[in-house]
Amino acid sequence: MRASRFFISTLKEAPSDAEIVSHKLMMRAGMIKRLGSGIYTYMPMGLRVIRKVEAIVREEMNAAGAVELLMPLVQPAELWQETGRWDKMGPELLRLKDRHGREFAFQPTSEEVITDVVRSEIKSYRGLPINFYHIQTKFRDERRPRFGLMRGREFTMKDAYSFDRDVAGMQQSYQIMYDAYTRIFNRFGLKFRAVAADNGAIGGSGSHEFHVIASTGEDALVYCPTSDYAANMEAAEAPSLLASRAAPSQPLEKVSTPQMAKCEQVAEFLKLPLAQTVKSIALTVEKEEGAKEYWLLLIRGDHELNEVKVNKVEGLGAFRFSTEAEILEAYGTVPGYLGPVNTKLPVRVVADRTVANMADFVCGANDKDYHYLGANWGRDCAEPQVADLRNVVEGDASPDGQGVLAIERGIEVGHVFQLGTRYSQDMNCVYLDENQHPVPMQMGCYGIGITRILGAAIEQNFDDKGIIWPTSIAPFEIVLCPMGYDRSETVKAETDKLYEALLAAGVDAIVDDRGLRPGAMFADWELIGVPHRVVIGERGLKDGNLEYQGRRDAEAQQVPVAGMVSFIK
Ligand code: ATP
Ligand code: MG
Ligand code: MG
Ligand code: MG
Repeated sequence: MRASRFFISTLKEAPSDAEIVSHKLMMRAGMIKRLGSGIYTYMPMGLRVIRKVEAIVREEMNAAGAVELLMPLVQPAELWQETGRWDKMGPELLRLKDRHGREFAFQPTSEEVITDVVRSEIKSYRGLPINFYHIQTKFRDERRPRFGLMRGREFTMKDAYSFDRDVAGMQQSYQIMYDAYTRIFNRFGLKFRAVAADNGAIGGSGSHEFHVIASTGEDALVYCPTSDYAANMEAAEAPSLLASRAAPSQPLEKVSTPQMAKCEQVAEFLKLPLAQTVKSIALTVEKEEGAKEYWLLLIRGDHELNEVKVNKVEGLGAFRFSTEAEILEAYGTVPGYLGPVNTKLPVRVVADRTVANMADFVCGANDKDYHYLGANWGRDCAEPQVADLRNVVEGDASPDGQGVLAIERGIEVGHVFQLGTRYSQDMNCVYLDENQHPVPMQMGCYGIGITRILGAAIEQNFDDKGIIWPTSIAPFEIVLCPMGYDRSETVKAETDKLYEALLAAGVDAIVDDRGLRPGAMFADWELIGVPHRVVIGERGLKDGNLEYQGRRDAEAQQVPVAGMVSFIK
């Protein structure tokens, strides 16, 4: 590639809405351009990285025996109704109507469509196992799109779906994907950790998330440095919650359907199991200037408020009210803002109440407690900050008894999941076994956030000059910076020669022939994050040398012209 024929657009300053480093640097490096909230144009420089990420994912998926297809963006509502997700998904699902008034979803994921494909295409046990995948645009109307590509509304995901005859087969397919993911994230050159994730209704240990380790990550990961134990915070907490799950004081079935749906929504919002025993406490927080804040705090049923300490908060969620009257009157209401309570300030308990489970909390014992639940949950809410209001803390004993727990933060870049017959039952996706008996297929699903990888990679690899891409996903592996490409015949000839030789050796190189001053030229490539740079100048060439500098190197070094390609390779 020649820079004069490519499109490079760098900025000195990041736009003010960019909060975290990856978002700032991607904007400054001209990788993405914002079109609307959570919606970005992938600019040529950014698209090159996306294509490299996709290529690695595709190679490893194919090598693991998965078969690529491509499912539509726009999917008929009827399919989503078959699994009940049309009603269950809530506002995150973007719904559309065509000119005939028929309803459609813009896919946030594709379980329904792939199950529809498989139920009509595969009739016999002979067609199994099979794993289909695609790399496709997704739309999720996220409550709070932010951080650029990290939490977009429109984004690209690789999603794969396996179909097996039985549970053992599903587990084998799952393991194959787990191993493929390990290879993929190793090839990206990123520091990552696979952690057990809670898979709710399905139970068992059939779900893992792959996280890129970064201090800015939204998720807290619990692991034991002296053993293999690793789980996300929700899954790490799950064992201590099992008791309350097993014996809810009031059977959840008693709750009527619309209320139950609301409970599930609230539980999902708080990332809590439905049967979690919670204590709700209304508080007044008195601020220094005499101003007051009113909060409803949820804490675990077996904890006391005085256990809520800075850095060891035992709460599950906190909701802020605007007036004291509101918190007293509508005790139990949830007005939208969610975040940690600053417990350094004086706190006065207004009232407290223990409820047997989430369902009780949401539905309450009387109408007053839930009349407001027509309220719009999504609007202006921050993400639940359960990671900061947690039950498991550093130094707790590891559940495997092999040491003590440590906590670090991660960015969820992949998720593998054993689904069982969750979708195949509802959609009648069955195969005929050897005795011609219909059996529902056992499914798994496997996602990788292709575009989120870019943000995650940068959060882990940057300095004050800009991005430092791992070579495998860099937009270009090497940039050639000629000093006077248009002025010096020798420089031009040597640059072109090296460029051709690099291409021939399979190195993705770009020549910066834009005629910029060296300082501006170097600053651009440091910002963009190309891992290798070679400067071609008359002075060095006199001694038969080129000047090489790796993106992380403090100093440049002289490398003989003849040896440059093998030096890079
Ligand atoms: P999160 O917890 O971050 O909301 P998720 O658990 O909802 O993610 P999955 O349904 O597991 O996401 O989707 C698979 C992968 O898609 C995730 O692991 C993540 O890498 C990616 N992903 C999900 N939501 C987004 C988004 N809004 N923007 C970019 N990538 C996303
Ligand atoms: Mg999500
Ligand atoms: Mg998640
Ligand atoms: Mg997930």
